[in-house]
Amino acid sequence: MILNELKDRVLSGGHITPDEAIFLANLADKEALYKAAHDITLQMAERRPDFCSIINARSGRCPEDCQWCAQSIRHHTQAEVYDLTNKDECLKVARLHEAQGIGRFSLVISGRHPSPALLKKICDTVRHLRQHTSIQLCASLGLVDEAGMQSLKEAGVTRYHCNLETAPSHFPALCTTHTQAEKIATLHAARQAGLEVCSGGIIGMGETMEQRIELAFTLRELDILSIPVNILTPIPGTPLEHQPLLSDEDILTTIALFRFIHPRAALRFAGGRKRLHKDVQWKAAYIGINAAITGDLLTTTGSTATEDHRLMQEAGYITDDTLFDRLHLWHPYTSTSHPLPVYEVERAEGAVLTLKSGEQLVDGMSSWWCALHGYNRPELNEAIQAQLTRMSHVMFGGLTHEPAIELARLLLPLVPPSMQKIFYADSGSVSVEVAMKMAVQYWQSLSLSALGNGHLAKKQNFVTIRNGYHGDTWNAMSVCDPVTGMHSLFGPALPVRWFAPQPRSRFGSTWEEEDIASLRTIIEAHADELAAIILEPVVQGAGGMWFYHPQYLTEAARLCREHNILLIFDEIATGFGRTGKLFAWEHAGVEPDIMCIGKGLTGGYMTIAAVLATNQVADTLSAYAPGVFMHGPTFMGNPLACAVACASIRLLTSPEYDWQGRVRRIERQLQEELAPARDLPQVEDVRVLGTIGVIELKRPVDMAWMQHRFVQEGIWVRPFGRLAYIMPPYVIETEQLTQLTGGLVKIVREIGI
Ligand code: PMP
Repeated sequence: MILNELKDRVLSGGHITPDEAIFLANLADKEALYKAAHDITLQMAERRPDFCSIINARSGRCPEDCQWCAQSIRHHTQAEVYDLTNKDECLKVARLHEAQGIGRFSLVISGRHPSPALLKKICDTVRHLRQHTSIQLCASLGLVDEAGMQSLKEAGVTRYHCNLETAPSHFPALCTTHTQAEKIATLHAARQAGLEVCSGGIIGMGETMEQRIELAFTLRELDILSIPVNILTPIPGTPLEHQPLLSDEDILTTIALFRFIHPRAALRFAGGRKRLHKDVQWKAAYIGINAAITGDLLTTTGSTATEDHRLMQEAGYITDDTLFDRLHLWHPYTSTSHPLPVYEVERAEGAVLTLKSGEQLVDGMSSWWCALHGYNRPELNEAIQAQLTRMSHVMFGGLTHEPAIELARLLLPLVPPSMQKIFYADSGSVSVEVAMKMAVQYWQSLSLSALGNGHLAKKQNFVTIRNGYHGDTWNAMSVCDPVTGMHSLFGPALPVRWFAPQPRSRFGSTWEEEDIASLRTIIEAHADELAAIILEPVVQGAGGMWFYHPQYLTEAARLCREHNILLIFDEIATGFGRTGKLFAWEHAGVEPDIMCIGKGLTGGYMTIAAVLATNQVADTLSAYAPGVFMHGPTFMGNPLACAVACASIRLLTSPEYDWQGRVRRIERQLQEELAPARDLPQVEDVRVLGTIGVIELKRPVDMAWMQHRFVQEGIWVRPFGRLAYIMPPYVIETEQLTQLTGGLVKIVREIGI
């Protein structure tokens, strides 16, 4: 029973003590211990095995006296002796390993530490490898100081390896030429230089089980997340050549204890495992080994890495080809050197994503708001297929086509009546660029009119509200929230806009007059330089998932009229029913001069957006030099995208589909099922509007952990900052939505306060 208590403690984020680890080690029921460690591995550790490989880039002649090592000059072994392998040879091996699905490659050299000249050569090799492969690079060069680590980092190393080898209490019996403290100093130096660290040890060197536990706790104090577990292979000619071999049970128990003590770490099977029977290797992986040093020598291509992949798969890990993705593909807002795991989707149907691993996830994101009708919708498939056989694309300059015309016919009755002109754009961000260009060109044109005056040409700037999001291109970014929109990162390269505070009057509560005061002050002071105000009506999406009072729009529109400023609504996220109205402007009944739509326009099938404008805007632009609107992308009005957009709108607006009924049902269910989160101490706020359900936390989330847990719960939710939110496809079924909300609330509960 104590075993289960300890397991539950670890599963809920707690730690076991050294005495408790000793208790576990002495349990008679080893199978129960292994199973408990397996449960921890499944729930807390990375389930995609992490493979690395090494090259012994310089061998032999080591002055140190480590008793286990074949490379010491003091022992008489058969170890090879050679100087630094040349960089093209290293590259050959690295490429071979990369092709075998191995994510990291380590340059290992013998010796106490590299001389400055050798370090320089190693850095050259690292640069060479980094230039010609994408495999992540590690180094294991002995005792190196911070300056040395810095040069390795600059060359392209991302992780440094230095084993503690054994328990602090056992180390002096095995090595007298350096201390474990020097190894720890090396790990600190690596960290100081911004490198990740990897450190483990060798078991079976005469230490007791208590000393193995001591090693595990020493590694935990150092917060090591990649831990090689070597099993001593006694080498003839070394002082440990007659060391008795560890029993299988000792090895497996050690792995189980390491998993209890390091629930999240990569426990990396390293040297010595080859002598174990296949079943024991399998058992080790089942218990907790979720990483390995693998890879083949040039002469034995193929076997080891393939075997390790198979071993891990059989032990319940997910091996897939996302490694290539990790090495070569850039994902949104993601590091290429420390990317979060990505999950490979094989197919998607309705509201369910099926991963290549076979796992099924209920989709809570609608692929960032756009897959309104879920995935693989027959009507949409047919529309795109039918259009494909006619033409997939023709230029829109001087040519037109039925899908573009039909789409406009379908859109006009749905948007504000004053929106009479449609400009097709490639994506949401581009449509925002287009809208902003339109606004500036409008005032330029008007300054040339008989009514106008030259001063109007100065109206080139924009005002918006904080916590907004309008896209990632240059101008779109300039009107995003200055903090989350990375203004300081891009510095003076970005145009400087005016920002009013985020409206605080909540949607559905009372309107506070004060809310508009700052915007009024800015507009009154700067109207002569302002071309337009740009807003996401009612719902601020990616900048904070905030729902504000529609009266703000009424007041903003009044200010625009009074001060000669255009009003741009960005309905890219809010469009097509998300907020309970077909478009969010309807909550206030305020019509803009220019409006952007995108995302759900094609039901999530293809990228296309549209900028809608009044005749007043379009006529003015057309009446004065240059007399044309200056924008025209290659893929404007792409027929495939227009055709599928037509099908999506027809589906959405068909009486049988009853989008309003669907959205109301989802809204009610979200309100009921997310409500319990409101009372959790870690939760700041819960809000629901239309099909958007938001749980705002008090602290930023650990995205890697949370995403992993969501996947384990069979749901797809991608949190950001302090927000965990869902906006499912409209076709989601009641039980699927319950799974989504249930999983969301469950994981939010698991977050510490
Ligand atoms: N505006 C808003 C309100 C958005 O939510 C987004 C996308 N999240 C964009 C613009 C940018 O659209 P895209 O990603 O298609 O460029």
